[in-house]
Amino acid sequence: MALGTAMDWREGLDAGDLSSESLVRGAFDRIRTLDGTLHAVLATDEARSLDLARKADRRLRAGERTPVLGLPIVLKDNLHWSGLPMTCGSRVLDGYVAPYDATVVRRLLEAGAIPIAKANLDEFAMGSSGEYSAFDPARNPWDPTRVPGGSSSGSVVAVAAGYAPLALGSDTGGSVRLPASFCNVTALRPTYGVLSRYGLTAMASSLDQVGPIAATATDLALAFGVMAGVDPMDSTSVELPHRERLADLRPLDLNGLRVGLPEEYFADGLEPGVRGLLDAALRVFEGQGARLVPVSLPHTRYAIDTYYLLCTSEVSSNLSRFDGVRYGLRSNSAASTLAGMISETRDEGLGPEVKRRILLGTFCLSRGYYDAFYLKALKARTLIAADFHAAFAQADILASPVSPGTAFPFGAKTDDPLAMYLADVFTVPTALAGLPCLSMPAGFTGGLPAGIQLIGPALSDVRLLEVARAFQSLTRHHLETPTLSA
Ligand code: GLN
Repeated sequence: MALGTAMDWREGLDAGDLSSESLVRGAFDRIRTLDGTLHAVLATDEARSLDLARKADRRLRAGERTPVLGLPIVLKDNLHWSGLPMTCGSRVLDGYVAPYDATVVRRLLEAGAIPIAKANLDEFAMGSSGEYSAFDPARNPWDPTRVPGGSSSGSVVAVAAGYAPLALGSDTGGSVRLPASFCNVTALRPTYGVLSRYGLTAMASSLDQVGPIAATATDLALAFGVMAGVDPMDSTSVELPHRERLADLRPLDLNGLRVGLPEEYFADGLEPGVRGLLDAALRVFEGQGARLVPVSLPHTRYAIDTYYLLCTSEVSSNLSRFDGVRYGLRSNSAASTLAGMISETRDEGLGPEVKRRILLGTFCLSRGYYDAFYLKALKARTLIAADFHAAFAQADILASPVSPGTAFPFGAKTDDPLAMYLADVFTVPTALAGLPCLSMPAGFTGGLPAGIQLIGPALSDVRLLEVARAFQSLTRHHLETPTLSA
Protein backbone atom coordinates (compact mmCIF):
# COMPACT_ATOMS: atom_id res chain seq x y z
CA MET A 1 0.00 0.00 0.00
CA ALA A 2 1.99 2.98 -1.22
CA LEU A 3 0.62 6.21 0.10
CA GLY A 4 1.81 8.49 -2.64
CA THR A 5 4.38 11.23 -2.68
CA ALA A 6 4.16 14.56 -0.87
CA MET A 7 3.56 16.18 -4.25
CA ASP A 8 0.55 13.90 -4.93
CA TRP A 9 -0.84 14.81 -1.54
CA ARG A 10 -0.03 18.51 -2.04
CA GLU A 11 -2.14 18.50 -5.21
CA GLY A 12 -4.97 16.56 -3.55
CA LEU A 13 -5.05 18.95 -0.59
CA ASP A 14 -4.91 22.05 -2.78
CA ALA A 15 -7.70 20.74 -5.01
CA GLY A 16 -9.85 19.93 -1.98
CA ASP A 17 -9.90 16.19 -2.83
CA LEU A 18 -8.06 15.26 0.40
CA SER A 19 -8.16 16.56 3.92
CA SER A 20 -5.16 16.85 6.17
CA GLU A 21 -7.17 15.22 8.93
CA SER A 22 -7.75 12.09 6.83
CA LEU A 23 -4.06 11.94 5.91
CA VAL A 24 -3.00 12.24 9.52
CA ARG A 25 -5.53 9.61 10.63
CA GLY A 26 -4.18 7.31 7.91
CA ALA A 27 -0.64 7.94 9.09
CA PHE A 28 -1.49 6.92 12.66
CA ASP A 29 -3.29 3.79 11.40
CA ARG A 30 -0.18 2.83 9.52
CA ILE A 31 2.04 3.45 12.54
CA ARG A 32 -0.25 1.25 14.65
CA THR A 33 -0.15 -1.52 12.06
CA LEU A 34 3.55 -1.51 11.26
CA ASP A 35 5.56 -0.01 14.03
CA GLY A 36 5.34 -3.03 16.31
CA THR A 37 7.78 -4.56 13.83
CA LEU A 38 9.67 -1.55 12.52
CA HIS A 39 10.28 0.45 15.74
CA ALA A 40 10.69 3.74 13.90
CA VAL A 41 8.65 5.80 16.37
CA LEU A 42 9.57 6.81 19.93
CA ALA A 43 6.73 9.22 20.78
CA THR A 44 3.51 10.64 19.38
CA ASP A 45 0.73 12.97 20.50
CA GLU A 46 -2.12 11.94 18.25
CA ALA A 47 -4.70 14.36 19.63
CA ARG A 48 -2.35 17.27 19.10
CA SER A 49 -1.43 16.20 15.55
CA LEU A 50 -5.11 15.82 14.65
CA ASP A 51 -5.82 19.24 16.07
CA LEU A 52 -3.05 20.72 13.92
CA ALA A 53 -4.47 18.86 10.90
CA ARG A 54 -7.91 20.36 11.43
CA LYS A 55 -6.32 23.81 11.66
CA ALA A 56 -4.50 23.15 8.38
CA ASP A 57 -7.77 22.10 6.77
CA ARG A 58 -9.32 25.41 7.83
CA ARG A 59 -6.40 27.33 6.33
CA LEU A 60 -6.72 25.33 3.10
CA ARG A 61 -10.45 25.99 2.90
CA ALA A 62 -9.75 29.69 3.40
CA GLY A 63 -7.62 29.53 0.26
CA GLU A 64 -4.20 29.61 1.88
CA ARG A 65 -1.39 27.70 0.14
CA THR A 66 2.12 26.78 1.33
CA PRO A 67 4.41 23.98 0.13
CA VAL A 68 3.76 21.88 3.25
CA LEU A 69 0.31 22.99 4.46
CA GLY A 70 -1.48 19.90 5.81
CA LEU A 71 1.35 17.42 5.14
CA PRO A 72 2.40 14.96 7.88
CA ILE A 73 6.07 15.00 8.85
CA VAL A 74 8.18 12.88 11.20
CA LEU A 75 10.92 14.46 13.35
CA LYS A 76 14.13 12.82 14.47
CA ASP A 77 14.07 12.68 18.26
CA ASN A 78 17.04 15.02 18.65
CA LEU A 79 14.93 17.97 17.44
CA HIS A 80 12.88 19.98 19.89
CA TRP A 81 9.12 20.00 19.42
CA SER A 82 7.70 21.75 22.46
CA GLY A 83 5.54 19.69 24.78
CA LEU A 84 6.79 16.32 23.57
CA PRO A 85 9.44 14.24 25.29
CA MET A 86 12.82 14.28 23.60
CA THR A 87 15.17 11.39 24.27
CA CYS A 88 17.90 11.69 21.62
CA GLY A 89 17.75 7.89 21.76
CA SER A 90 19.29 7.99 25.23
CA ARG A 91 18.28 7.00 28.76
CA VAL A 92 20.05 10.05 30.11
CA LEU A 93 17.15 12.25 28.94
CA ASP A 94 14.46 10.15 30.67
CA GLY A 95 11.61 12.49 31.57
CA TYR A 96 12.87 15.48 29.58
CA VAL A 97 10.13 17.37 27.74
CA ALA A 98 11.10 19.86 25.05
CA PRO A 99 10.33 23.39 26.31
CA TYR A 100 10.53 25.09 22.89
CA ASP A 101 10.49 24.42 19.14
CA ALA A 102 13.63 24.08 17.04
CA THR A 103 13.71 26.82 14.39
CA VAL A 104 13.20 24.30 11.57
CA VAL A 105 10.23 22.80 13.44
CA ARG A 106 8.75 26.23 14.15
CA ARG A 107 9.00 27.20 10.48
CA LEU A 108 7.31 23.97 9.40
CA LEU A 109 4.54 24.46 11.96
CA GLU A 110 3.98 28.04 10.82
CA ALA A 111 3.68 26.82 7.24
CA GLY A 112 1.11 24.25 8.39
CA ALA A 113 3.04 20.95 8.31
CA ILE A 114 1.81 18.39 10.86
CA PRO A 115 4.46 16.71 13.01
CA ILE A 116 3.13 13.22 13.76
CA ALA A 117 5.97 11.45 15.54
CA LYS A 118 9.41 11.65 17.09
CA ALA A 119 11.63 9.10 15.41
CA ASN A 120 14.16 6.58 16.68
CA LEU A 121 17.89 7.19 16.25
CA ASP A 122 21.31 6.08 17.36
CA GLU A 123 21.98 7.57 20.80
CA PHE A 124 22.73 11.28 20.32
CA ALA A 125 23.05 10.55 16.57
CA MET A 126 26.26 8.57 17.06
CA GLY A 127 26.16 5.55 14.79
CA SER A 128 25.66 4.26 11.29
CA SER A 129 23.12 1.50 11.76
CA GLY A 130 20.45 2.58 14.25
CA GLU A 131 21.60 -0.13 16.65
CA TYR A 132 23.06 2.29 19.21
CA SER A 133 19.59 3.54 20.18
CA ALA A 134 18.87 2.94 23.87
CA PHE A 135 15.46 1.63 22.74
CA ASP A 136 14.46 -1.25 20.44
CA PRO A 137 16.29 -0.34 17.24
CA ALA A 138 14.43 0.54 14.06
CA ARG A 139 14.32 -2.18 11.41
CA ASN A 140 14.81 -2.02 7.67
CA PRO A 141 11.42 -2.23 5.91
CA TRP A 142 13.03 -4.08 2.99
CA ASP A 143 14.29 -6.80 5.31
CA PRO A 144 13.55 -6.49 9.04
CA THR A 145 16.50 -8.75 9.89
CA ARG A 146 18.75 -5.94 8.66
CA VAL A 147 19.59 -2.50 9.96
CA PRO A 148 17.98 0.55 8.35
CA GLY A 149 21.19 2.56 8.60
CA GLY A 150 21.79 5.41 10.99
CA SER A 151 21.79 7.54 12.75
CA SER A 152 18.47 8.92 11.41
CA SER A 153 17.10 5.37 11.40
CA GLY A 154 13.50 6.01 12.44
CA SER A 155 13.05 9.08 10.22
CA VAL A 156 14.12 7.20 7.13
CA VAL A 157 12.09 4.10 8.01
CA ALA A 158 9.02 6.30 8.54
CA VAL A 159 9.29 7.59 4.96
CA ALA A 160 10.23 4.23 3.44
CA ALA A 161 7.30 2.52 5.19
CA GLY A 162 4.88 5.29 4.26
CA TYR A 163 4.05 6.64 7.71
CA ALA A 164 4.60 10.14 6.35
CA PRO A 165 5.80 11.56 3.04
CA LEU A 166 8.36 13.80 4.79
CA ALA A 167 10.79 13.48 7.67
CA LEU A 168 13.66 15.37 9.23
CA GLY A 169 16.92 13.78 10.22
CA SER A 170 20.30 15.19 11.10
CA ASP A 171 23.57 14.54 9.31
CA THR A 172 26.88 15.02 11.09
CA GLY A 173 28.87 12.59 8.97
CA GLY A 174 26.29 10.78 6.86
CA SER A 175 23.28 10.19 9.06
CA VAL A 176 20.57 11.03 6.55
CA ARG A 177 22.42 9.78 3.46
CA LEU A 178 23.45 6.36 4.71
CA PRO A 179 19.98 5.23 5.88
CA ALA A 180 18.45 6.75 2.75
CA SER A 181 20.72 4.50 0.70
CA PHE A 182 19.83 1.45 2.82
CA CYS A 183 16.06 2.11 2.63
CA ASN A 184 15.54 3.49 -0.91
CA VAL A 185 14.60 7.08 -0.15
CA THR A 186 16.06 10.48 -1.03
CA ALA A 187 17.80 12.65 1.58
CA LEU A 188 19.72 15.90 1.49
CA ARG A 189 22.53 17.14 3.67
CA PRO A 190 22.45 20.89 2.97
CA THR A 191 25.46 23.21 2.83
CA TYR A 192 26.62 23.80 6.41
CA GLY A 193 24.65 26.77 7.75
CA VAL A 194 21.69 26.66 5.37
CA LEU A 195 19.36 25.11 7.96
CA SER A 196 19.36 26.47 11.49
CA ARG A 197 20.73 24.19 14.21
CA TYR A 198 18.82 26.01 16.94
CA GLY A 199 16.89 23.31 18.79
CA LEU A 200 18.84 20.43 17.23
CA THR A 201 20.66 18.70 20.08
CA ALA A 202 24.35 19.26 19.42
CA MET A 203 26.58 16.28 18.69
CA ALA A 204 29.52 17.86 16.81
CA SER A 205 28.58 21.47 16.21
CA SER A 206 30.98 22.20 13.35
CA LEU A 207 29.49 19.27 11.41
CA ASP A 208 25.82 18.94 12.45
CA GLN A 209 23.16 19.78 9.85
CA VAL A 210 19.44 19.09 9.70
CA GLY A 211 18.53 17.07 6.61
CA PRO A 212 15.14 16.55 4.96
CA ILE A 213 14.10 13.05 3.84
CA ALA A 214 11.39 12.05 1.33
CA ALA A 215 10.65 9.67 -1.52
CA THR A 216 11.78 12.17 -4.16
CA ALA A 217 13.93 15.28 -4.53
CA THR A 218 10.80 17.24 -5.46
CA ASP A 219 9.19 16.26 -2.17
CA LEU A 220 12.09 17.06 0.06
CA ALA A 221 12.48 20.42 -1.66
CA LEU A 222 9.02 21.34 -0.33
CA ALA A 223 10.13 21.05 3.29
CA PHE A 224 13.64 22.34 2.62
CA GLY A 225 12.41 25.64 1.14
CA VAL A 226 10.13 26.29 4.10
CA MET A 227 12.92 25.66 6.64
CA ALA A 228 15.78 27.55 4.96
CA GLY A 229 16.58 31.20 5.69
CA VAL A 230 18.90 32.96 8.09
CA ASP A 231 18.17 32.43 11.78
CA PRO A 232 19.55 34.89 14.32
CA MET A 233 19.52 32.04 16.87
CA ASP A 234 22.27 30.18 14.95
CA SER A 235 25.42 32.22 14.39
CA THR A 236 26.51 29.92 11.54
CA SER A 237 23.32 30.33 9.55
CA VAL A 238 23.54 31.58 5.95
CA GLU A 239 21.02 32.47 3.26
CA LEU A 240 20.27 29.81 0.65
CA PRO A 241 20.49 31.20 -2.90
CA HIS A 242 17.58 30.43 -5.27
CA ARG A 243 15.31 29.24 -2.48
CA GLU A 244 12.26 30.32 -4.53
CA ARG A 245 12.93 27.50 -7.01
CA LEU A 246 12.23 24.83 -4.36
CA ALA A 247 8.45 25.05 -4.17
CA ASP A 248 8.18 23.75 -7.72
CA LEU A 249 11.45 21.99 -8.43
CA ARG A 250 12.30 21.71 -12.14
CA PRO A 251 14.70 19.16 -13.63
CA LEU A 252 18.08 20.56 -14.71
CA ASP A 253 19.07 20.03 -18.33
CA LEU A 254 21.89 17.50 -17.95
CA ASN A 255 23.33 18.16 -21.39
CA GLY A 256 26.95 19.30 -20.99
CA LEU A 257 26.94 18.85 -17.20
CA ARG A 258 30.39 17.77 -16.03
CA VAL A 259 29.96 14.92 -13.54
CA GLY A 260 33.20 14.31 -11.63
CA LEU A 261 33.98 10.80 -10.44
CA PRO A 262 36.42 10.82 -7.50
CA GLU A 263 38.82 7.97 -8.23
CA GLU A 264 39.38 7.33 -4.50
CA TYR A 265 35.66 6.57 -4.08
CA PHE A 266 35.58 3.88 -6.73
CA ALA A 267 38.44 1.85 -5.30
CA ASP A 268 38.67 -1.51 -3.51
CA GLY A 269 36.12 -2.24 -0.87
CA LEU A 270 33.13 -1.14 -2.90
CA GLU A 271 30.75 -4.11 -3.22
CA PRO A 272 30.49 -5.20 -6.88
CA GLY A 273 26.68 -5.08 -6.78
CA VAL A 274 26.73 -1.47 -5.60
CA ARG A 275 29.37 -0.64 -8.23
CA GLY A 276 27.09 -2.08 -10.91
CA LEU A 277 24.19 0.14 -9.83
CA LEU A 278 26.43 3.20 -9.89
CA ASP A 279 27.66 2.41 -13.38
CA ALA A 280 24.07 2.07 -14.59
CA ALA A 281 23.14 5.38 -12.93
CA LEU A 282 26.09 7.12 -14.55
CA ARG A 283 24.95 5.85 -17.95
CA VAL A 284 21.65 7.65 -17.35
CA PHE A 285 23.59 10.91 -16.94
CA GLU A 286 25.68 10.17 -20.04
CA GLY A 287 22.55 9.36 -22.01
CA GLN A 288 21.40 12.95 -21.44
CA GLY A 289 24.66 14.43 -22.69
CA ALA A 290 26.45 14.77 -19.35
CA ARG A 291 30.20 14.31 -19.43
CA LEU A 292 31.89 11.99 -16.92
CA VAL A 293 35.24 13.35 -15.81
CA PRO A 294 37.72 11.61 -13.52
CA VAL A 295 38.77 13.71 -10.53
CA SER A 296 40.98 13.03 -7.54
CA LEU A 297 40.44 13.79 -3.86
CA PRO A 298 43.86 12.69 -2.61
CA HIS A 299 43.30 13.35 1.10
CA THR A 300 40.28 11.04 1.24
CA ARG A 301 42.34 8.45 3.11
CA TYR A 302 42.60 10.76 6.11
CA ALA A 303 38.88 11.53 6.25
CA ILE A 304 37.72 8.84 8.69
CA ASP A 305 40.56 9.55 11.14
CA THR A 306 40.01 13.29 10.87
CA TYR A 307 36.26 12.99 11.33
CA TYR A 308 36.46 10.68 14.34
CA LEU A 309 39.01 12.93 16.05
CA LEU A 310 37.09 16.17 15.49
CA CYS A 311 33.67 14.65 16.06
CA THR A 312 34.65 13.00 19.35
CA SER A 313 36.40 16.16 20.57
CA GLU A 314 33.25 18.15 20.00
CA VAL A 315 31.15 15.36 21.53
CA SER A 316 33.27 15.42 24.68
CA SER A 317 32.52 19.09 25.10
CA ASN A 318 28.86 19.14 23.96
CA LEU A 319 27.74 16.17 26.04
CA SER A 320 29.13 17.53 29.30
CA ARG A 321 25.78 19.26 29.77
CA PHE A 322 24.11 15.89 30.50
CA ASP A 323 25.12 15.77 34.12
CA GLY A 324 21.96 14.91 36.04
CA VAL A 325 21.63 18.50 37.20
CA ARG A 326 19.85 20.19 34.33
CA TYR A 327 18.01 17.63 32.23
CA GLY A 328 16.38 14.23 32.47
CA LEU A 329 17.84 11.39 34.46
CA ARG A 330 19.41 11.90 37.88
CA SER A 331 20.99 8.96 39.63
CA ASN A 332 20.20 8.69 43.31
CA SER A 333 22.54 5.83 44.07
CA ALA A 334 25.50 8.09 44.87
CA ALA A 335 23.71 11.26 45.80
CA SER A 336 26.10 11.97 48.69
CA THR A 337 28.43 14.16 46.64
CA LEU A 338 27.81 16.27 43.57
CA ALA A 339 30.67 14.64 41.66
CA GLY A 340 29.36 11.20 42.60
CA MET A 341 25.87 12.05 41.39
CA ILE A 342 27.21 13.38 38.06
CA SER A 343 29.41 10.41 37.41
CA GLU A 344 26.73 7.86 38.39
CA THR A 345 24.16 9.62 36.20
CA ARG A 346 26.48 9.56 33.20
CA ASP A 347 27.46 5.98 33.86
CA GLU A 348 23.84 4.80 34.09
CA GLY A 349 22.37 7.06 31.44
CA LEU A 350 24.84 6.91 28.56
CA GLY A 351 25.42 3.95 26.26
CA PRO A 352 28.77 2.37 25.27
CA GLU A 353 29.28 4.22 21.97
CA VAL A 354 28.60 7.61 23.56
CA LYS A 355 31.01 6.81 26.40
CA ARG A 356 33.64 5.65 23.91
CA ARG A 357 33.42 8.97 22.07
CA ILE A 358 33.47 11.11 25.20
CA LEU A 359 36.60 9.29 26.36
CA LEU A 360 38.35 9.48 23.00
CA GLY A 361 37.41 13.14 22.53
CA THR A 362 38.49 14.12 26.03
CA PHE A 363 41.81 12.39 25.40
CA CYS A 364 42.27 14.27 22.09
CA LEU A 365 41.68 17.61 23.76
CA SER A 366 43.86 17.03 26.78
CA ARG A 367 47.14 18.86 27.35
CA GLY A 368 49.99 17.23 25.53
CA TYR A 369 47.72 15.56 22.98
CA TYR A 370 45.78 18.56 21.71
CA ASP A 371 48.42 19.57 19.13
CA ALA A 372 49.14 16.02 18.03
CA PHE A 373 45.49 15.04 17.53
CA TYR A 374 42.94 17.85 17.56
CA LEU A 375 45.05 20.50 15.85
CA LYS A 376 46.43 18.03 13.34
CA ALA A 377 42.91 16.90 12.47
CA LEU A 378 41.87 20.51 11.91
CA LYS A 379 44.71 20.88 9.41
CA ALA A 380 43.73 17.66 7.66
CA ARG A 381 40.16 18.96 7.45
CA THR A 382 41.43 22.02 5.55
CA LEU A 383 43.27 19.78 3.08
CA ILE A 384 40.18 17.60 2.56
CA ALA A 385 38.09 20.71 1.84
CA ALA A 386 40.77 22.00 -0.55
CA ASP A 387 40.59 18.73 -2.53
CA PHE A 388 36.91 19.36 -3.24
CA HIS A 389 37.60 22.95 -4.18
CA ALA A 390 40.14 21.79 -6.76
CA ALA A 391 37.78 19.10 -8.10
CA PHE A 392 35.05 21.68 -8.70
CA ALA A 393 37.36 23.45 -11.15
CA GLN A 394 36.96 20.41 -13.40
CA ALA A 395 33.44 19.27 -12.60
CA ASP A 396 30.04 20.86 -11.87
CA ILE A 397 28.97 18.11 -9.49
CA LEU A 398 30.55 14.92 -8.18
CA ALA A 399 28.91 11.49 -8.13
CA SER A 400 29.91 8.64 -5.83
CA PRO A 401 28.66 5.69 -3.80
CA VAL A 402 26.96 6.49 -0.49
CA SER A 403 28.35 3.50 1.35
CA PRO A 404 30.55 0.56 0.30
CA GLY A 405 27.65 -1.89 0.72
CA THR A 406 23.95 -2.42 1.37
CA ALA A 407 22.05 -2.82 4.64
CA PHE A 408 23.79 -5.36 6.88
CA PRO A 409 22.28 -7.80 9.39
CA PHE A 410 21.79 -6.73 13.01
CA GLY A 411 24.92 -7.33 15.04
CA ALA A 412 27.25 -7.56 12.03
CA LYS A 413 29.35 -4.54 13.05
CA THR A 414 28.51 -3.79 16.69
CA ASP A 415 31.53 -5.68 18.05
CA ASP A 416 33.93 -3.76 15.85
CA PRO A 417 33.58 0.04 16.11
CA LEU A 418 36.08 0.55 13.30
CA ALA A 419 34.03 -1.55 10.86
CA MET A 420 31.00 0.57 11.79
CA TYR A 421 32.97 3.78 11.24
CA LEU A 422 34.05 2.58 7.78
CA ALA A 423 30.42 2.52 6.61
CA ASP A 424 30.83 6.33 6.56
CA VAL A 425 33.92 6.45 4.39
CA PHE A 426 32.14 8.21 1.49
CA THR A 427 29.90 10.46 3.58
CA VAL A 428 32.26 12.06 6.10
CA PRO A 429 34.54 13.96 3.67
CA THR A 430 31.72 16.16 2.37
CA ALA A 431 30.58 16.83 5.94
CA LEU A 432 34.11 17.92 6.88
CA ALA A 433 34.08 20.24 3.85
CA GLY A 434 30.58 21.58 4.64
CA LEU A 435 29.29 20.79 1.15
CA PRO A 436 25.74 20.01 0.02
CA CYS A 437 25.24 16.38 -0.90
CA LEU A 438 22.36 13.99 -1.31
CA SER A 439 21.60 10.31 -1.54
CA MET A 440 19.01 9.06 -3.98
CA PRO A 441 17.90 5.57 -5.01
CA ALA A 442 20.00 3.86 -7.70
CA GLY A 443 18.34 0.43 -7.73
CA PHE A 444 18.61 -2.97 -6.04
CA THR A 445 21.32 -5.55 -5.61
CA GLY A 446 20.68 -8.86 -3.85
CA GLY A 447 17.15 -7.64 -3.09
CA LEU A 448 18.40 -4.58 -1.19
CA PRO A 449 18.50 -0.95 -2.28
CA ALA A 450 21.58 1.23 -2.69
CA GLY A 451 21.84 4.91 -3.38
CA ILE A 452 24.07 7.19 -5.40
CA GLN A 453 25.55 10.30 -3.78
CA LEU A 454 25.68 13.65 -5.58
CA ILE A 455 27.93 16.39 -4.19
CA GLY A 456 27.92 20.07 -5.16
CA PRO A 457 29.95 23.19 -4.40
CA ALA A 458 28.92 25.21 -1.33
CA LEU A 459 25.46 26.80 -1.61
CA SER A 460 24.59 24.94 -4.82
CA ASP A 461 21.90 22.97 -2.93
CA VAL A 462 19.06 24.01 -5.23
CA ARG A 463 20.89 23.03 -8.38
CA LEU A 464 21.90 19.73 -6.80
CA LEU A 465 18.24 18.97 -6.17
CA GLU A 466 17.42 19.95 -9.75
CA VAL A 467 19.99 17.41 -10.96
CA ALA A 468 18.38 14.77 -8.73
CA ARG A 469 14.98 15.75 -10.09
CA ALA A 470 16.28 15.23 -13.64
CA PHE A 471 17.63 11.79 -12.72
CA GLN A 472 14.38 10.81 -11.03
CA SER A 473 12.36 11.90 -14.06
CA LEU A 474 14.36 9.33 -16.07
CA THR A 475 14.39 6.45 -13.55
CA ARG A 476 11.90 4.57 -11.41
CA HIS A 477 14.03 3.25 -8.53
CA HIS A 478 12.68 5.87 -6.12
CA LEU A 479 9.12 4.68 -6.77
CA GLU A 480 9.81 1.15 -5.50
CA THR A 481 8.28 0.59 -2.07
CA PRO A 482 8.69 -2.38 0.27
CA THR A 483 5.93 -4.92 0.78
CA LEU A 484 4.89 -4.64 4.40
CA SER A 485 2.53 -6.43 6.68
CA ALA A 486 1.94 -6.25 10.39
N1 GLN B 1 27.92 7.49 11.44
C1 GLN B 1 28.54 8.74 11.75
C2 GLN B 1 28.90 8.79 13.21
O1 GLN B 1 28.64 7.84 13.87
C3 GLN B 1 27.66 9.88 11.39
C4 GLN B 1 26.60 10.14 12.38
C5 GLN B 1 25.79 11.31 12.01
O2 GLN B 1 25.86 11.82 10.88
N2 GLN B 1 25.02 11.80 12.94
O3 GLN B 1 29.42 9.75 13.69
